[in-house]
Parts: sequence; C-alpha cells; structure tokens
Amino acid sequence: MIRLNDITGKVLTYHPRADIQLIEKAYVYSAKVHEGQVRLSGEPYLSHVMEAAYILAQMKMDVVCVAAGMLHDTLEDTSATPEEIERLFGAETLRIVDGVTKISKLKFNSAQERQAENVRKMILAMSTDIRVILVKLADRLHNMSTLRFQPPEKQRRIAEETLDIYAPIAGRMGINWIKSSLEDTCLYYLEPAAYEQIQNTITSKKEERDHFINEVIQMLSDKAKEWDIRCSIKGRHKHFFSIFRKMKQQNLDISQVYDVLAFRIIVDTVRDCYAVLGNVHSIWKPVQGRIKDYISVPKQNMYQSLHTTVVGPYGKRMELQIRTWDMDKVAEEGIAAHWKYKENGVSGVADEKQLSWVRQLMEWQQSLQDPVQFLESVRMDLFPNEVYVFTPKGEVKEFPMGATPVDFAYSIHSEVGEKCTGARINGRMVPLRYKLRNGDIVEIITSPKAHPSKDWVGFVKTSRAKTKIRQWVQNQERQESIRLGREILERCLHQDHIAIPNLLKSEQLGAVARELSFRSAEDILVQIGLGRVSAKQVLGRLRPKVVDEKEDKSEGIVAKVVDLLKRRREPLGIEVTGISDMLVRYAQCCHPIPGDRVIGFITRGRGVSVHRENCPAIIDSAPERLVPVNWSPPKDEVFPVILRVTSVERKGLLADVSAVITQKDANISKAEIQTTMDKKGISFFTIEVKNNRQLQEIIASIRKVKEVLIVERI
Ligand code: MN
Repeated sequence: MIRLNDITGKVLTYHPRADIQLIEKAYVYSAKVHEGQVRLSGEPYLSHVMEAAYILAQMKMDVVCVAAGMLHDTLEDTSATPEEIERLFGAETLRIVDGVTKISKLKFNSAQERQAENVRKMILAMSTDIRVILVKLADRLHNMSTLRFQPPEKQRRIAEETLDIYAPIAGRMGINWIKSSLEDTCLYYLEPAAYEQIQNTITSKKEERDHFINEVIQMLSDKAKEWDIRCSIKGRHKHFFSIFRKMKQQNLDISQVYDVLAFRIIVDTVRDCYAVLGNVHSIWKPVQGRIKDYISVPKQNMYQSLHTTVVGPYGKRMELQIRTWDMDKVAEEGIAAHWKYKENGVSGVADEKQLSWVRQLMEWQQSLQDPVQFLESVRMDLFPNEVYVFTPKGEVKEFPMGATPVDFAYSIHSEVGEKCTGARINGRMVPLRYKLRNGDIVEIITSPKAHPSKDWVGFVKTSRAKTKIRQWVQNQERQESIRLGREILERCLHQDHIAIPNLLKSEQLGAVARELSFRSAEDILVQIGLGRVSAKQVLGRLRPKVVDEKEDKSEGIVAKVVDLLKRRREPLGIEVTGISDMLVRYAQCCHPIPGDRVIGFITRGRGVSVHRENCPAIIDSAPERLVPVNWSPPKDEVFPVILRVTSVERKGLLADVSAVITQKDANISKAEIQTTMDKKGISFFTIEVKNNRQLQEIIASIRKVKEVLIVERI
C-alpha cells in the first residue's frame, strides 16, 4: 500500500520547495472522513484515494492537484461539505474536487460511437480545470486495477465505459501511458479469450523474443556509432489492445500479426530523427505505405514521431518509432508534460508555444479569445459555445450555449416541440426560456392542445427550432389568410348572385391564379386575405369564365347572369389614402359610419381596419401603423351604431323611440331595456344608418321624445 511519504517524496523530487503541508493536511482529513469505509478488496477506502494521489504525483502534478486527488471522493461518499473543503484547502482545491464529483455522478449509456463522443465532450465541457480530468483519469486508472473485486456485470459495464469514454480522453490529452494501461485492462475484461491468446503468444516465446530484442538493440547501437548519432533504444511488444485492434481491423489471427514488436529510438535533434530513418532503411527494407512523418505533421494531440515498419533480421517485421527526447516526453505524458512548476511555485503550462499544443489537443475547440488568460488561470473552457445535457433515458445531446428546453423538445421531434408546455430539469419545473446547463437531465412536458408561440423565436438557439416555429406561425397565418380570403371572395360572389361550389377546388380559380402568376388557387386566397390582391381584381377575371361555363350548361340563365355581370360592382365604402387595393374592415369596437372622422389601422395580415378617430383601441397603438382614410361618396351600404337612451321610466317609451328611428329611415336590429333602482330606464338600440348626418338627425329626434334625458352613441 502507498504511504503518505511515497506521495510527498515523489512530489519533492520534481518540486523540492513544494508546500507538501497541503497534501499532508488532505491526507489527515481524508483519513478522518473515510474512516470505517472499506473497498471491495477489503482494503480501507483511504488506500484508493492515496493511489489516485500517487498516480497524480507520478504525473508530476502540483500540490493542489495531488491534494485534490486525495480528497476526490470526500464530497460524494462522506459527510464532508464543500464549505469545509474550501475553508481547509482553498477554492482551487474545492473546484477540482467538485468537478470530479460532478463527473462521477453522471449516468450515461455510451453504446453508440456518436453517443460516446458526446459523453466525452460533456465531460470535457464540465471540467473547467484541466486537473479535473487528470484526477478523474487517476481515479479510473486505480479503479480499473482493482476491477477484479467487482461482480462480473459491473466489471463489464465499467470496462465498457472506460474503453468508450476515459481511454479516448486520455488519448486526447496525449497521456499515452494511461491510455494504453486502461485499454489493456478493458481488453482483459471485455475480450478475455483474445487477451489470453495474445498473452500466451507473447509469453510463450518470451526468451526467443527477448533474445531478438537484444539483438536488434545491439545492431542498432553499433550502427548508430557508425552514423555518429547519439541515441537511446528501447524494444518492447506493442500493448495488447493495439495488437487486438489490428487483428480485428484486418481480420487477422494472432499468428498473422507479425509486427507485435516495436522499437523506439530516441535522439537529440530533429535532424537526427531523419538521419536515423534514412540509415535504418539502408539496412532493413521498409514496408510500403507504413512510413509516417508525425514530426512535420503532428497528430491532433501534438504527438510527434517518425514511424516506419521494416523487415528486420530473420525476415521479421518490426515497427520503429524515431523521435527526440522532448517528443518522447510529450508522447508519454501528454498534457502533463507541460505541467511544470514555475520558479515562484505557481503551476502553469510552460509557454505560449506549448499552449498551442493544449489548444490543438482539443480538436473541436471553436475559438479561444484570450490564450494568455487561459494560461494563467489554468482553467479551460473547451466548448464555450456548446452545452451537453441528458435525455431522461441517459442519452447525451449537444446544443449551442444558451439553448432552452424548447430547443431540446424540437431536437427530439418537431411534434414534441409544437406540443411542449413546460420542462422539468433534474426533476424540477422550469420556465421554457430556462437556459440549459451541462449535465442537466431534461424532461419535456407536452399537451395535445398546446401550440408554439411566436415569442419562442426570440429565445430558442437552434436553427432547427427557429425554423420549425417560424414555419408553424407562417402556416397558421396562411390558414387564417386563406379563410379570410375565401370569405371575402365568397361574399363578393354572393352579392353578385354567383355561386361556385367548392371555390377552392374549382378550375376557374386555379386558372385565374395562373393568369396572375400565382402557384395555386390557395395562394390567391392568401393574397386576398392579406389584402395584397383585391377580390374585385380576381372577380373581374373570374366572371367571364363563370359565364362560359354556365352557357354550356344552361342557356336559360345566360341572360340573367350577363345581366348580373353588367351591374357595376359597388365600390368599397372607404378609400385608403395612398394605399390601393387594401383590404378594409370596419372596426367592431367603435362602429364607424360615413361622416365620422376615421383613421385606418394596418393590422397584421388582415388589411386595414377603420376606427373612429377617438376610438380608445387605437389611441395607444403604434403610430406607424396608422394611415389616413377617407370615406368615398355615399352609397347604399348601412352601418351598425349603438345608441344608449336614458329616460325616466314610463310605459310606451320604447315604442315611441322606435317609431322616431323608423321615421328617419333607419333599421333597428336590436333593442334592450334596463330599469335602474332610481326608476330610470336605460335602453340600448342597435340601429343601421347610412351616414353620420342621418345619425345626428335620429339622435336629435329621440331627444325630443317625452321623458328622454340623455341620448349617446357608444
Ligand atoms: Mn474514486
């Protein structure tokens, strides 16, 4: 078992002046809160966190990171609180411990490759400090090494998760030794037969192989002296998982995988790398297509090396990797290789050049605004423009930063989006404009009666949701315009006593649409509904066609129809100054009549509605939507007006008032009488008048009726 001294001693080897008290304090605290907890292996729980801390020390991490490794399970498994950790170990330590805890709590299924990628991104996005990932990797590395104590089902699940998520993350961080170690352990649990086969093959001829390795190393060393190049040579078999991968990819048996051996030649300079490559090829024949130059074109995780496969002694294939000492360090330690102590004891990534390494490491990184600031704070924000959340089934979905439950709903299905009324995040109800956060579990609540709101466009972030909402709104408006357009057109037809059954499907309207360069009869109704085309205009073209058809069918009514068509169409009651062919409606709130001072209000998609100038409904409306309107010359149309007549209650009053109205040539469409407590009668008359002059005459006459007190238009 690892002892505290092993950890602090290790730290002091790479940073002699490190403040190891923090680590010691973390040890004491961790021992206290984990007391009594035992691992499945039978060891005290403390052993696990110490192993993790030791791995971090092996990675040459700073004291904060090592201390955080020692504390990494306290928040999840013990009575320790964040406040206490912060008080005792500082905000930086807490941030790391908290980050590791959050990741540990995530429950995901990583079955599909795409899904696994999203999970990896989510973990990286949640780790705003690189050290969170490193502690998590150390934690996982030790857990994998003690996986044998877990029940088989759990072994499998953890191994799968490690292979899908953590080994690739280690690879992305460039920490090769952790990646290889994790992969090999996973192989042991996931493909035990293959693992055993590879192991047997490699160990069965161990002596022979060792002899061969030594022979090659000796040959190369001798040659290097000839070439006058200083180098160090290591030989080893490749790690099991990479052999396994090769067997699988190329469908080979282990006996057919020849180059299980790899040699590494480490030299002082880049020039030496290329020199060695050339010289090696002069003694051993290279295998076609296997030469790779990762020095001039580094891998995304900044791995640099020359690779070649050659046919070596005894006709055996072997892989050679040639690189400098620096490159070797990066290849093994990855991001940790850049984790150096500065003179003042503050840790940080070494310099701007190496920082670019970190940047490129994160291949999906969109933009990094200020690399210097990034460097100083050792925080990372890998995906500033993305957020990762869970479905209730544990699937991870990616969204642009600031996305809302509505975006989430539309990403499932447009129908879910259209019917969504609310959302539960981590089990709590939130408003639809809630901004999703990394790791949220999102559940959408739908209702069959719900429908999208125009306002949603203002806060959704995905273009899919935006487009779908706009489409829905547009379609709603279109349906409304069609309804309105049909109504207007049918009313006009009706006035002319022409009936076209099923107007929309009729051939005639389709023909007119084509004449006016619209795509369909529906489109023309939309245009009428929106007030962009007048019903008159359409009717003018429709009429001859209607006639033709009627002639064919029945000669008898031709004369009648022609007669009807000759009659002048009544002009609209209103001219809207400056705007022609506008759809005009009379406001239902104030019932304007000819002679009133009126003003037009441009509605959304419903043409102009005409209000009386003092109508309360338009006083507060946007001034830019108001247009001047004029009454056109008088005609036969009548307009409804409501009058309120207040009087002393008496018999026959209603009859008297009605008589006066009728005398003045106006219709009464409705009359209603109420009696008040103080014996007054209040009557409401809805009457139809031609214009304001007629109305004024009627009002004057009613005032003259006995016992009438007040007459008002309302
Ligand atoms: Mn742990």
